[in-house]
Order: sequence, then C-alpha cells, then structure tokens
Amino acid sequence: MSAGGTREGGDLAGQSLMGTYRQPPAVFVRGEGTLLFDAAGRRYLDFLSGIAVTSLGHAHPVVADALAAQARKLLHVSNLYGNELAPEVAATIDRLLGGGSHLAGRVFFANSGAEANECAIKLARRWAGPGRHVVVSAWGSFHGRTLATLHATGQPAKHAPYEPLPVGFEHVAYGDVDDLRRAVDPVRVAGVLLEPIQGEAGVVDPPPGYLRAVRDLCSERGVLMMVDEVQTGLGRTGRWFGFEHSEVAPDVVTLAKALGNGFPVGACWAREEVAEAFGLGDHGTTFGGQPLAMAAVRATLETMEAEQVPERARRAGGRLAEGLCAMAGIDRVRGRGLLLGAVLALPAAPDVEAAALRRGLVVNALGSDTIRLAPPLLVSDEEVDEAVEILGDALAEVALGGNE
Ligand SMILES: *Cc1c(COP(=O)(O)O)cnc(C)c1O
Repeated sequence: MSAGGTREGGDLAGQSLMGTYRQPPAVFVRGEGTLLFDAAGRRYLDFLSGIAVTSLGHAHPVVADALAAQARKLLHVSNLYGNELAPEVAATIDRLLGGGSHLAGRVFFANSGAEANECAIKLARRWAGPGRHVVVSAWGSFHGRTLATLHATGQPAKHAPYEPLPVGFEHVAYGDVDDLRRAVDPVRVAGVLLEPIQGEAGVVDPPPGYLRAVRDLCSERGVLMMVDEVQTGLGRTGRWFGFEHSEVAPDVVTLAKALGNGFPVGACWAREEVAEAFGLGDHGTTFGGQPLAMAAVRATLETMEAEQVPERARRAGGRLAEGLCAMAGIDRVRGRGLLLGAVLALPAAPDVEAAALRRGLVVNALGSDTIRLAPPLLVSDEEVDEAVEILGDALAEVALGGNE
C-alpha cells in the first residue's frame, strides 16, 4: 500500500479482496448462452456454467426480463410478511420432486447451497429430538463452507484450520453400504446426507444400487435420508434430480446452484411430516425467499420445463461423453448427463484447464487428474463438437510438454 492508503493503479489485480481464490486467469465481462467474453472481446465457450449454476446459459432473456421486471416492482419484503411468488415456487419444486405429481412436502428458501444444507441439518436435529443429532455423510463429499456444512463435508484437509468444528458429524466411505450400516446408530443418528453423484470429489458415481440400499437402511433404522442435489439437481444429470436414477424417495432434498440460473438462492425441501418438526421461529433468514429471488426461480423453472432440460442434458451429455471417450489422453469418463468428469491418463488436469482456457474453453480441474465439464443444458451440438476439439488440442499440447 502507498502512503496515501490507496494502491497503485487502483485494484485491477484484486488486492482489496481476501486471498481465498487464486489470481483469476480470466475476467469475464459479458455472457450470452454458452458464450463468455472478456474485456478484450475474446470469446470463450463456457463448459463449466459457474460450476453447474447457469444451466440455461448466460443472460437468458426470460430470466433477465423476470429479474428486471421484479426489481422495478418489489425487491424485498421481510419474511415477517408474505410475498406473492414464494408459495407458487415452493409448489413447483414440490411437483418436480414428485415426478410431476405433488408430494405435499414443504420448502424453506435460503440463499446458497450451504444454507440449504444448514437448514436440512437443523431440521434433522429438530425432527429427531434431543440427543439424536448426528448427521452421517461421506468421505470426499462437499456440502458447503459454513462451520456445520464444512464438518459434513468429508474432506479433512478443509477441516484442519478451523477446528474445533461443531459436533455431530460422522463420515463413511461413499458407496459402501456396510460402512453406512455400521455408522447409522438409530440412538444417535438423525439423518444421512449424501450427494447422488459426488461433484467436487471428481464427479464420482456411486455403485449401482447404493442409493436404494441407503433408502432401505434409513427406513429400517428410522433416520432421514437427505439428498444434497445442490450440484446434481434440476436436469443436470439427465433426470430432474440425481436420486431419480435410483428410483428412491428421499425425506429431505437440498437445492441451490442452478435454481436461480445465477441468482443466489437455495432451497431445502422436506416431506410434510418431517417439515412439521420446524415450528414458529425455529429457523429464519432475512433474504431467503425474497421476491427478486423467487422471480428468478419461477422464470428459471418455467423455462427449464418448457425446454425439457433433463432430456436436453441426456442427449447433449451423450454426445459430449462420446467425444471425450474417443479422445487420446482421456482414460474414462464419469458422471451422467451434462455433469461429466473426464479422467486423464496423466495427472495434469490443472495444466489442461489452463491450456483449454488459452484456447477459449472454460472447464475446471478437480484434483490432479479430472476435468469437470458442466455446460449449459441448452448447449448446441456444434458447441459440444467445438469444445471437444478444443479440449483435444489442449490435451495434445500438455502431452507434448507445451505450457505457453
Ligand atoms: C456447491 C455445493 C454446495 C455449496 O453451495 P454454496 O452455494 O457454495 O454454499 C453444497 N453441496 C454441493 C453438492 C455443492 O456442489
């Protein structure tokens, strides 16, 4: 800092931001559908969608118009009062979760995935009663960055700097039914919280039959089956929700990322008897469920239904997976629909991410050997083919040892 307390050249490098994220390799100023543009006007294909957030693409006109109109009409009222949109949006979520017929479950609106999971954890404790407060989740999972959801997150390296973490969280090996059977002690455990596909862990699919077995075990032991659909939900995997691939009915479902197509919003749904555990004043939020967020969600879900996004994701995902599987340097492809993890033959994912970005393709490295691809669900065949070509070039460049 200079003597005058200001930084040389303003703050274009972001020195005024806390250093929790790396120096950005690109700064985007505008988007349209699958495309992003930087300040120099350079075009990029966005095959990450803000980590499975902008599922309808950037600047979708229906969502943009709904936000603009609502901003002029009513931005915010306290949850001490009602708003016209929240009940309708909650009913839509309930209907989508029921595969088209209402389940009569209830929704609490929050502002993020972590908050949606906080709501699920608190609800499970309230539902189970004093003493039965443990939530069992999986190693490798990701559930958020608040202290409680950080502990639910099964990544010890992320825990270490923040200990002691809130008590009441235990972890099992993802996909291992025997481990879960050992962990789910009905005297202490309120619920099990799992992702239907582990996103941050590298797009990891559970073994066939796992979620079915989890459902059976939870029913047998009388604990809640809670599914974190924050990344997998809303068409991304080729069904409306990731749990549908296993034909199970969870007790609690959390949503966020794609729910507002980029507007920050989260939701925790629970079936009626579980939701009733929350009484007046048991949970709350200033911003959750505000009119602006609800306008974004209503427009997003309406468009998703009109566009039949699960079907779109299934088709485009098939094309993308096929292109990836045929590519030299890719060992195998994990995931479903348009949530894919390409496992590289070389542990060079960060280099491949950087090489792809230089060539105008946004993807993201998970660990050392996986590239995550999560384009908008409305992505075109031509865009899929172009992305496959760019990624192939990036892989070839890295394999040849090039890095500039
Ligand atoms: C991103 C994510 C979260 C956290 O969402 P935030 O909005 O960042 O709090 C929780 N669970 C899963 C599965 C996620 O992918």
